[in-house]
Amino acid sequence: MKILFLDQSGKPGGAELCLIDIAKPYRDRSLVGLFADGGFKTLLQQNQIPVEVLTNQAIQVKKSSGLIQGLKSLRLIIPLIIKVIKRARKYDLIYANTQKALVIGAIASFFARRPLVYHLHDILSKEHFSQTNRRIAVNLANHFASVVIANSQASQTAFVQAGGHANLTTVIYNGFEPEIYQTDESDVRQLQQELGLIGKFVIGHFSRLAPWKGQHILIDALAQCPQQVTVILVGDALFGEQDYVKQLHNQVADLGLENRVKFLGFRSNVPQLMAACDLVAHTSIFAEPFGRVIVEAMLCGTPVVATQAGGAMELIEPGINGFLFPPGDTQELARVINTCLQERHKTTTMANNARKMAIQRFNMTSINRQIAQLLAAKFS
Ligand code: UDP
Repeated sequence: MKILFLDQSGKPGGAELCLIDIAKPYRDRSLVGLFADGGFKTLLQQNQIPVEVLTNQAIQVKKSSGLIQGLKSLRLIIPLIIKVIKRARKYDLIYANTQKALVIGAIASFFARRPLVYHLHDILSKEHFSQTNRRIAVNLANHFASVVIANSQASQTAFVQAGGHANLTTVIYNGFEPEIYQTDESDVRQLQQELGLIGKFVIGHFSRLAPWKGQHILIDALAQCPQQVTVILVGDALFGEQDYVKQLHNQVADLGLENRVKFLGFRSNVPQLMAACDLVAHTSIFAEPFGRVIVEAMLCGTPVVATQAGGAMELIEPGINGFLFPPGDTQELARVINTCLQERHKTTTMANNARKMAIQRFNMTSINRQIAQLLAAKFS
């Protein structure tokens, strides 16, 4: 099957990293069309996946934008739509991996007469998207998509609650290659040395810096933990959240935590960094659609604590393979951190359980098979 994948982002967020894994088996007969240039294109090229940047004009619609902003951007997107229609005619299927890709892909699928798959990596709720954006996404998916792949039950439920047709949806979780998360102990030790982490209890937060990802919650919780507890913040402001970055630095300074919080920026050695941590914290203040970081921490054998909402609740069985805490509850988060600090043996057992579960449940081979079977059943 020849697939035209579409993604709006030039930067590698979770949806984009997932798309690399999905597109890989189809790379000899497919194309990934991007709506922006950047590091994601480079990653696709490194994986020998054909890629073309289809426009250099940013589509000025945000998750919170209303109808007027959407209409204003129409002028810009018409040339892009024409290009996508032309490309789509050479492929059997359009696979939209993001919301803006859905908009362009839906129109192109109509004119090029190609079926459309929408991979939903978002929770279509009012916390994440304006009402206009939710309506557009749901209506386009209902009218044009033959299949909606939801990345969790939480994303599926939000889609249906927003008016999406349940019968279009199938839940398929992100897949991972467990081998990538088996790290060399000496590499990890060296990293700990370089970062000055030896002898500390290290909590890692792996996410782009954005208010809803809740790095500020972890910093507040850190202020309630003993001195040896240290935080590394791994990730950058991918989508212009510079005010939030300033706010985080101010918060660290105000709490006198300069020696206990390290901002590491975007890193590509996530498995080694996770292995260097005693705990990975995932602190989104709104429901997370899936939470790749949670599964990655599990595969590294590092204990994980996450917000009790959205996809995280499908990944973590509290007390068995990880910890959950109510969104934004810094006291409860601090309590979990202190438990991990004191009960190392129990926490290690939970991390081992998590690793076994994650290897079974999120194995790339079986996830890719699920996608292949779904596409074959619908489109062969
Ligand atoms: N990530 C990374 N380098 C960083 C920070 C994050 O490669 O510096 C990766 C992380 O390992 C994960 C992805 O970015 O695979 C984030 O996915 P997630 O589902 O957690 O969040 P999203 O970006 O989709 O909101």
